[in-house]
Amino acid sequence: MVTTEANLTQEVRDFLNDGPKKLLIGGQWVEAASGKTFETVDPSNGDVLARVAEADKEDVNRAVAAARKAFEDGPWSTMTSAERSQVIWKIADLIEEHADTFAQLESLDNGKPVVVARRDDVGGTIDYFRYYAGWPTKIEGHTVPVGVPQTFAYTLRQPVGVCAQIIPWNYPLMMAAWKLAPALAAGCTCILKPAEQTPLSALLLGQLMLEAGLPAGVMNVLTGYGETAGAALAAHMQVDKIAFTGSTEVGKLIMQAAGKSNLKKVSLELGGKSPNIVFADADIEVAKEGAAAGIFYNMGQDCTAGSRLFVQDRVYDEVAQYVADAGNKMKVGRGLNEDTEIGPLVSEEQLQKVTGYMSIGQQEGAVVLGGGGRPSDSALSRGFFVNPTVLGQARNDMRIAQEEIFGPVVTVIPFKDVDDVIRQANDISYGLGAGIWTNNLQRAHRVAAAIKAGTVWVNTYGGTDPALPFGGFKQSGIGREMGYEGIELYTEVKSVWVNLE
Ligand code: NDP
Repeated sequence: MVTTEANLTQEVRDFLNDGPKKLLIGGQWVEAASGKTFETVDPSNGDVLARVAEADKEDVNRAVAAARKAFEDGPWSTMTSAERSQVIWKIADLIEEHADTFAQLESLDNGKPVVVARRDDVGGTIDYFRYYAGWPTKIEGHTVPVGVPQTFAYTLRQPVGVCAQIIPWNYPLMMAAWKLAPALAAGCTCILKPAEQTPLSALLLGQLMLEAGLPAGVMNVLTGYGETAGAALAAHMQVDKIAFTGSTEVGKLIMQAAGKSNLKKVSLELGGKSPNIVFADADIEVAKEGAAAGIFYNMGQDCTAGSRLFVQDRVYDEVAQYVADAGNKMKVGRGLNEDTEIGPLVSEEQLQKVTGYMSIGQQEGAVVLGGGGRPSDSALSRGFFVNPTVLGQARNDMRIAQEEIFGPVVTVIPFKDVDDVIRQANDISYGLGAGIWTNNLQRAHRVAAAIKAGTVWVNTYGGTDPALPFGGFKQSGIGREMGYEGIELYTEVKSVWVNLE
């Protein structure tokens, strides 16, 4: 039942063979109150990797109570900020020590190429914890010169409290880090719910966090389903803040649940359909590569994937064909193989969704320039593989241009000039990312200012950094993660008045 490739670390084998995975509540590994478990599968072949506890409402109540106790009683909230920094730094050190194990688990559970998992997911997670390890000693209020005589006024920036954090399956470990690191730096306590498809790396992370000295109850992990455990967290009266990454549809449900319960603070990082814009005056060789990498990275399962590729008329054929050829040349295979460039999609559901959009695109009149459908290699037939696909001759009003496909499928749309592309790029409900490829400085800045998106990349695409705010305009989200903005998400500002007379 369990994958046993020769190259798996002993730690991965032990982790997978160690019986059903439990929930982390109050520093203890416990079964779900119902005793239920569910399977997590290897998307490259459908084999069961492990069974995992299925949390539900009662487990949510237990985890929230543990997080509340840890928040109110300390020692996390009462220890010095320097001590909190040290624990967060130690978490990063332990992740680094177990980097290969994390990379392999992530590749097995999600399907992504292990090389990418090691470099970006695990490497990015380490950087992220280290960046936020620096913050606890720098969270401060201000003194404020108010207009009332003989009054001393100041602000305190304090942790928001108990935080529920619901994350998706596309970057399981890194999404956990994006949520946990700033919350812990701010002094909050957390309940993390990983996606049902990819629970494993969050469980290993929980184990290492305890080892790093994180006090019991400060970080709890509830594996389970969104409709049950996730919804119970969103509606819970004792959760002070909820942070969510995933679909816009579920983001709206989370906001409704927060509104109907205790008006908990909400931050949302949602979907996207990001325009990646190639002007004819760009360094076309570089832009072509950027266009291909912008969509095929992580099999297109990326909220900022450059999935609407706008190409100026004069270079349209050249760029579209290059991206199609680049996709055709990519090595599709099992993520654990070091030479794999395109692994499987995460699930059968995503496979159906993505191949469905390939058909919809053709019905709408787009032309398949590369890829399309599933690989013919019979060795891949049990996995959720699709070919990197380029849909050309498309229009921005097609469903394949307006809806998030979340696979290695790019819709290539021609444009005439700057005004035309700004209008088309903004004609969408999303606003997460955008790319601009041009050698004209004025044009780059003009378009960067005009595009309604939380991040704009000029002559590059897709990078993130723990120091730079990240989030969405329009229906791509609310709030900004990373940087100081990440600290703001997890703190409340208190104004204090002192009468000096
Ligand atoms: P979801 O938005 O359903 O899942 C994201 C997280 O939310 C998961 O942990 C999920 O739990 C949880 N969840 C689901 N329903 C609820 C609920 N009612 N209350 C609280 N939490 C809930 O995304 P899907 O996995 O269904 O993917 C569907 C589409 O969403 C993709 O095709 C893609 O377009 C988009 N997506 C966008 C992402 C992004 O980064 N912006 C990431 C992932 C998906 P569980 O999985 O356990 O059910």
